[in-house]
Amino acid sequence: MTYTLPEFLAHAVALEQEAADRYLELADMMEAHRNDAVSAVFRDMTRFSELHRDEIQARVGKVELPKLKSWEYRWRSPPEMGGEEGFDYMIEAYNALQYARENEIRAMQYYRSVAAESTDEEVRRLATEFANEETEHVASLDKWIELTPRP
Ligand code: ZN
Repeated sequence: MTYTLPEFLAHAVALEQEAADRYLELADMMEAHRNDAVSAVFRDMTRFSELHRDEIQARVGKVELPKLKSWEYRWRSPPEMGGEEGFDYMIEAYNALQYARENEIRAMQYYRSVAAESTDEEVRRLATEFANEETEHVASLDKWIELTPRP
């Protein structure tokens, strides 16, 4: 995957926006089910994603970003989800945390592959930096998964 800097930044902004949207949904869902601790985790993740999106956008400045196809950055649902069972599945904090973790891993792998394959030095530098941030997100979700009872 070799991108120009604007293409790469467009993906990064879209990934962060998608993460912020999904974390907000998860936070609301946990709050509705009185799991305030895990709701707070997801609210923090929403804020981090928004901050990161804004930082990237500030870097972008006046550069026009290309439009992306949604499948290139949308979060993937686990196969267990779907229909009404999907809702029950996600009510469990453990499953919601795992779902978030899988998508953080995808983001981390995406950034790592860009860092490894890009020929643009600035893209490689930023992709490495973003991959490290995603690694931290995975680690903080892991910490919460350990504390959360398995359904
Ligand atoms: Zn992340």
